Amino acid sequence: METIQITLPDGAKREVPNGTTAAQIAREISPRLAKEALVARTNGELIDLSRPLDRSTTLSILTAKDPDAVQVFRHSAAHLLAAAVLELYPNVKLGIGPPIENGFFYEFVREEPFTPEDLEKIEAKMHELAAKDIPNERKLIPKPEALDLYRKSNQEFKCELVEEKATEPLVSFYTTGKFIDFCRGPHIPSTGRIKAFKLMNVAGAYWKGQEGNPQMQRIYGACFVEQKELDEYLHKLEEAKRRDHRRLGAELDLFSIEEDAGPGLIFWHPKGGIIRRQMEDWLRDELVRHGYDLVFTPHVMRLHLWEISGHTGFYKQNMFGPMEVEKDDYQLKPMNCPGHILIYKSRLRSYRELPIRLAELGTVYRYERSGVLHGLLRVRGFTQDDAHIFCMPDQIEKEIQDCVEFAWDVLRVFGFDRYEVELSARDPEKPGDYAGTLEEWERAEAALTNTLKRMNVPYKYMPGEAVFYGPKIDVKLVDAIGRPWQLTTVQFDFNLPRRFKLEYVGEDGSRHQPLMVHRALWGSVERFFGVLIEHYAGAFPAWLAPVQASVLPVSGKFEEYAKRVAQQLKDAGFRIHLDERNEKLQAKIRDAQLQKIPYMLILGGKEAEAGTVSVRHRSKGDLGPRPVEQFIKDLQEEIRSRTIA
Ligand SMILES: [Zn+2]
Ligand SMILES: [Zn+2]
Repeated sequence: METIQITLPDGAKREVPNGTTAAQIAREISPRLAKEALVARTNGELIDLSRPLDRSTTLSILTAKDPDAVQVFRHSAAHLLAAAVLELYPNVKLGIGPPIENGFFYEFVREEPFTPEDLEKIEAKMHELAAKDIPNERKLIPKPEALDLYRKSNQEFKCELVEEKATEPLVSFYTTGKFIDFCRGPHIPSTGRIKAFKLMNVAGAYWKGQEGNPQMQRIYGACFVEQKELDEYLHKLEEAKRRDHRRLGAELDLFSIEEDAGPGLIFWHPKGGIIRRQMEDWLRDELVRHGYDLVFTPHVMRLHLWEISGHTGFYKQNMFGPMEVEKDDYQLKPMNCPGHILIYKSRLRSYRELPIRLAELGTVYRYERSGVLHGLLRVRGFTQDDAHIFCMPDQIEKEIQDCVEFAWDVLRVFGFDRYEVELSARDPEKPGDYAGTLEEWERAEAALTNTLKRMNVPYKYMPGEAVFYGPKIDVKLVDAIGRPWQLTTVQFDFNLPRRFKLEYVGEDGSRHQPLMVHRALWGSVERFFGVLIEHYAGAFPAWLAPVQASVLPVSGKFEEYAKRVAQQLKDAGFRIHLDERNEKLQAKIRDAQLQKIPYMLILGGKEAEAGTVSVRHRSKGDLGPRPVEQFIKDLQEEIRSRTIA
């Protein structure tokens, strides 16, 4: 009998009869592997465990530990969904059904929209079919026969796919019981292991994602190999929902977006305004401490300026349209850089002045399609904590280090302790795609790399990810529930100094071009605020909280004492709310909790007599009585140290 040679990942070789399957080899290796196996990989290609091997090859048997195998698992779950839908609604037309991050979808055309009740029924049917452990079987069908099969069952979208994608005379199909699907595969052997899934929602989508094409209904499902993973994922989603800044923003009266004003434009309410002021005051002090100069630049400037900078070319689709004033075109600013450059250029600079660091909480406007706008995170008007550094080549490493250290301060102060750093460099294969010379790029990339290495910062090197005008460092912080957020960015720019002909008089008396760096730490005040709301779940630390303590007299009898205490606290500089409503204490406490006020001070007879307050913390609960002066001292210290509690 003819044999073939199989090379396993550990290098071990096996002689097996031609036609042996990966499943058989898995069984020979260990019963456990056979049980856990989902799919196999030969010479880099994923194949069904049941596919006979017909030549000598490398072979890996993949389990749920392999991300590719998990995607195959999810794809099989998509087939299971389609099978269940066809059983319940035989007239639906099928689109595509790929695996996605955390799950899968399948798309259908059906007159009536799928309702939440329908999803429940479909999910139950999926479990029923899964429990029957129906095999997923591969079939090769001649192309004309495949088209005929789909024409007869009125599956016009599938016909289209076969026409377009089937390049061989034989077309690969997979069956799951009665269900048959044009599919390259591979799939897991049978439906029995698909247990940990949940249908999440239905969303409209155009066929092939193209506007004007027929409307499909996509049923999305979450799906994992293990139930525990699904439970964790669903819990994380719940947690994200609980922390959603749009909901909390309304509940805590922090901000709103007003239909009359337009989408993507943020109204900061008084309580949001207090937080913003604290954030900005802190930042301005830090900027001054780090040697930045604070500047202000206009919101509209001549269109001509944006022609010099090149924005009317490469950035046009992100800008609001120009407006005409006295026959001159003006442009609402999408960026602050040209404004800072004009300040730099307002007179001749000497090397003695460098580095010049110009910082501005600069409000910019960008055109984003209404479909992508999202609360505070994606908006059309926002304030960048922007700065531009102009310096000489030998100063650049120190400047980069200062920027990164400054970013750490921001992370720490606002209570983030995890972050990810990425260094985006040019694509070495496409040197023509970038502004600046090869030498400049090499020097800049070396400056970024050296700085991160010297600082002992672990980072991911991302070739090809740089913007055309220079390499950059991005810092993503990781929030309380493990989500990464791209905030800080430090970017070199070889383009603008050249376009604006920036120069300084060097020590040698001749003119040189300075290096220019754009950097933002929060990114934008709006976006960072959105991230903070979700990170804190609305419970801002005392130094930021709009109301730091709520004074709660237990009854009208103690109104006088409550007023006196409230005044004393206000005089100490705190933001205080005095709850004088004629409500039960329990109701007052509940409302203060809902507003996530850090401290509740409960005042009754005992407290009035002793000159104390009974302190309750929103998360630590009852802290007992304390003299008013003591509470003042404690809270002052908590605010001064910006404690996260
Ligand atoms: Zn498929
Ligand atoms: Zn800039």
